[in-house]
Amino acid sequence: MGIKKRDGIFGLSVIGIGLILMLAMNVYGKTPGNQIKITADGTVYGIYSLKVNQKIEITEEWGHNHIVIKDGEAYMEDADCPDGYCEQQGKISKEKETIVCLPHKLVVEVITAEEENTGDSNSGNDSYDAGEETDVAEDEAAAPDVIAK
Ligand SMILES: [Zn+2]
Repeated sequence: MGIKKRDGIFGLSVIGIGLILMLAMNVYGKTPGNQIKITADGTVYGIYSLKVNQKIEITEEWGHNHIVIKDGEAYMEDADCPDGYCEQQGKISKEKETIVCLPHKLVVEVITAEEENTGDSNSGNDSYDAGEETDVAEDEAAAPDVIAK
């Protein structure tokens, strides 16, 4: 199937839908998440644990965003987008909550990964590897180089 040139428009639509979902999800699901997924321009930029206090600096050609994870919550600390709306969206920590920076095509979404089963975290000093990057595999069915005859 051919991919049409509507990808750009589609990407914007996805962000728009994300915004709507954000509003909807504020009413519904209140399940605590344990990771955030950052999507930049429709591509997964990275996945970060909410249990690790950290600062994520994202610099794209159109600007930068500084996302902070602190005490299990993520928020947009700083961004140089024209509207600054993402900084006003507050802290997110519940599954499917999002922060959207429309001018920078950036979406931060809380997700739940199966990294723990017991919801009770009374350990004070887990040594998570904060620097580890979680790469999302995107290599689907690449064309074979060699065709056996
Ligand atoms: Zn913004």
